[in-house]
This record gives sequence, C-alpha cells and structure tokens, in this order.
Amino acid sequence: MSGLGKGGITASIMKMLDFYGYRVLPIKFDGYLNYDCGTMNPYRHGEVFVLNDKSEVDMDFGIYERFINKDLTGNLSITGGKLYSTLIKKERSGEYLGEDVQVIPHVTNEIINHVRGISESEKPDVIVIEVGGTVGDIENSYFIEAMRQLAIKDKTIFINLTYVPTLDVVGEQKTKPAQIGFRTILQSGIMPSFVICRSKDKLLAKTKKKLALFTNLDESRIIDDEDQMTLYKLPLSFMEQKMDKMLIKDLGLPERKLNKQKLSTWRNTVDKILNPERSVNIAILGKYTNLQDSYASVKEALIHCGAKSNARINISWIESEKLESGTDPSAVFAGIDGVIVPGGFGNRGIEGIIRGIRYCREQKIPYLGICLGMQLMVVEYARNVCGLKDANSSEFNKNSKNKVIDIMKSQLGRRAKGGTMRLGLEESKVADKKSIAYKSYSAITIQERHRHRYEFNNRYMDLMKKKGLLFTSFSSDNIVETVEWPGYAGIGTQAHPELRSRIEKPAPLFEYLVSKALLRREKT
Ligand code: GLN
Repeated sequence: MSGLGKGGITASIMKMLDFYGYRVLPIKFDGYLNYDCGTMNPYRHGEVFVLNDKSEVDMDFGIYERFINKDLTGNLSITGGKLYSTLIKKERSGEYLGEDVQVIPHVTNEIINHVRGISESEKPDVIVIEVGGTVGDIENSYFIEAMRQLAIKDKTIFINLTYVPTLDVVGEQKTKPAQIGFRTILQSGIMPSFVICRSKDKLLAKTKKKLALFTNLDESRIIDDEDQMTLYKLPLSFMEQKMDKMLIKDLGLPERKLNKQKLSTWRNTVDKILNPERSVNIAILGKYTNLQDSYASVKEALIHCGAKSNARINISWIESEKLESGTDPSAVFAGIDGVIVPGGFGNRGIEGIIRGIRYCREQKIPYLGICLGMQLMVVEYARNVCGLKDANSSEFNKNSKNKVIDIMKSQLGRRAKGGTMRLGLEESKVADKKSIAYKSYSAITIQERHRHRYEFNNRYMDLMKKKGLLFTSFSSDNIVETVEWPGYAGIGTQAHPELRSRIEKPAPLFEYLVSKALLRREKT
C-alpha cells in the first residue's frame, strides 16, 4: 500500500552509501499519466517540489535532496506521462516505422535506456530507484518489468517494502499482507534481497522468523522499519541492523572506509532533533493545513533550524478559513512565538490569512511570508496602512481598483498551465545592508527556488515605501523579491527558501524567524 514511506527509505539507503563515500543518485518512477506534479492538487498529492532546473517533481525529491545534500535534476523523475509523450513523439517522427509500438519492448526499453543514460552521463557508483505505487498495480507494472530486464545485464538488487500491521485487539503482528506482497513480486520474476517491514513497533523474533521462512531470506535480511520520531534516524536504524554492510557486499562495490566524522555529525543532529534543550511555538497559517504533506518542506526547514538552535519547534497548524469565520485572532495565536504563511493558490481562505497577518503586524509577532505569504503581507499593508481599502491580488479579485499584486508580464498570454510559472533557481540582489534579508543571508546575492505567476505591482512601490513598507531585494528584471515591515521582525519573500533548506545549512530566513521567535519566547 502507499504511504509507507518509500521516499524516506530510498533516501536512507542512499545516505548509508553516502556515509561510505559512494556517489549515489536517486531515480523515481511514477506511473501516473501527468507529465509532472505541477498540475496536481497539493491537498491530495502533497507538496509540489521544485528543483533548481525548474522541474516540478514529487515531494520525495525533497527527502532525497535533504538526505544526500545534493541538488538534483528533473531527468531523475520518470513519469508515465513523460514516457508516453516521448514515445508518441518518436512514433510520429517515424522512429518505429513498420513496427507495432508496444509496452514491451518499447516502453520498457525507453525506461531501461533512460536509466542507463543517467548512469553513463552522471557516473554514480549506485543509482537507487524508487518505484512509485504498489506491486500488482497496473500503473507501474511496466516499470517493474523494465527493472526485471535491467537486472539481467546490470548489477541490480531489489528491495521490497511491506507493511506488517499489528492487530490492536490481540496485539499480534500479522505477516499475511507481507507474504502476499512478496508472492506478487516473485510472480513478476523478481527476487528481493531485503524485505523492509514498516510496522508500529520492532518486529518480534517470531514475526521475523516467519517472514524469513516465507521469503527464502536469511533473518538478517528482514529489516525493521518501525515508526520513528524523526525520519533522519532511519539510516542509523538500518545501519544498526547491518543493512549497509550487506548492501555493499550484494552490490559488489569496492571496499571503502566509513566516514566516521560524517556519521557522527548526522547522529548528533538526530540527537538534537530528539532531545533539544529549549522549545518554541511556531504557527503555520495556510490553506492546506489539513494535509501536512502539502507543506512538507516548510516543516523540514523548521526541523533543520530547531536542530541548529537546540530547540524543539512545536508547530501549530492553523487552517485559514478558521480566521475567516470571525474567530478572534488573539485566541488562535495564543502562546505562538512566530508565524509562517506558506505558498498557495486560489481564493479559498485568503481573507482569513490577511486577518492573521494583520494581527501579527499589529502585535509584532515575528512573521515569515513565503510566496503567497509575501503577496498577502503586501495586500494587508496596502489595505490597513496605506488606506487602499479594496487592495488585492488580481489572482483573487480581477475587478479590484488597486491590484497591488498582479500577474507577471511574462505570464500574460500564457494559457497552458503545465510548467509555465516562474520556476526554479532565480537570483536576486539585496538593496539594503540594514535589511533582514541581508542580515539573514550575509550576502548581497541570493539564490532561491521559485514557483509563482503573480508579483508585486511596482506602480505601488513609491506609495507603499512612503507608508513604511521596505522593499529589500530585487531580481535582475526588477521583480520585488523581499518586503519587510519597518522596525520589527516581519519579512515576506517571493521565493520558496524551504526548498533549499538542509540539515547542514538551514534556510536563512527560517533561521531568522526561529531566532526572533526564541527571543520573544524567552522574554515572555
Ligand atoms: N498564487 C501565487 C502566485 O502564483 C503564489 C504562489 C505560491 O505561493 N507558490 O504567484
């Protein structure tokens, strides 16, 4: 079944190999026929992750990047949509003249060639491929068949992730779903070398024994994957079970020394995440808070800052519609030390967010607005400080006389929705050395990832500047990248700094917010 955490496991496998200095790369297969994730609903599918190269990919790429601390590229994401569009283009151009174009061999060869292509161009030691979906799905069956064929010539091992439920009434771990899953894989001609068992608690000895018997594997290859307090612990847990040693042997990799320094830094971070000395309360006020996966990277960026500042970050998720229904903001924000408004699209809940932002500004609660959160910070300021009562973003009200946020010129006339936003890594320059932007990045040049269609309307800059709003960084084509409240901790960024946050280097604006929130907490 889905939702077992394949992304975290793929990332942990890479991390174990990375500790030994092997060069690893992930590839993700997704069976859906969307070309990429860009047009999917974050409420259903989780966050759309954006890479430097403008690709809009599955949120698992966020986990991969955060684990191996490496910027990845869109060609590592293969979807049914991409595959079929390539094949149809080839067919129309006559590459298969005279042939029947079929799933086997045409689709499967396309997959195999793509994997080999990446291997040849990037020359990693190991590629770790995550096959989306579940064995037995029609959607991913051709990916699994392609991997069976790949394994005939290329050194390949398979890892099965399965679920071992515990029946609450009797407290017994049940292996039947795992047995059936394993049998289904065997039917596809694939023999896994490991079975990773997702479960509530560690496997009991007798559960392990039973699974080993049914899978023809040694008990050491039935791996525990019990619920963890933090995903970052998973590679350590696998290493305790010696999975690293077995993997390296199975893959026939040349022997390398474990980088003890790297491992202990990781271990210390995990320890900081689990046992911090202080704590702080941050609210995330957004449109999709019912599915926390919609803001996965925001949450991770906070975890990174927490580990660095030795603080547990308690996140309160506030659904913006709650503030629309007349709820008193002081009750909603009671005990909160800092607020984030993350990205989002569409009208629902917008007025609630604006009310929340007003409250933060007036009460001087440290604030970080991300993309939509920056745009609404501008709308709120225009309405309540600059007196432009009907100010809005043209995304939400096309008839507003004061479109302080408006569609970007480059977007006018663009009809198609897929991959057409301002996407990927963009550079901006800080204009003021006294700004929060400069203090946070300690640099004039900022590079962050983006994903938006709307921008600050520069016609309002003079007026808003006069009323105190600070415009502190700009792209080379004059897009406002950061705005700040005068005199206290509030910053909005048009970028998505959460997408580049890593354990090794937390996103600077998040660090700023957390540090200000900690100060506020310690004062009160
Ligand atoms: N909807 C806004 C835009 O398109 C904000 C996008 C976002 O928050 N990622 O500009």
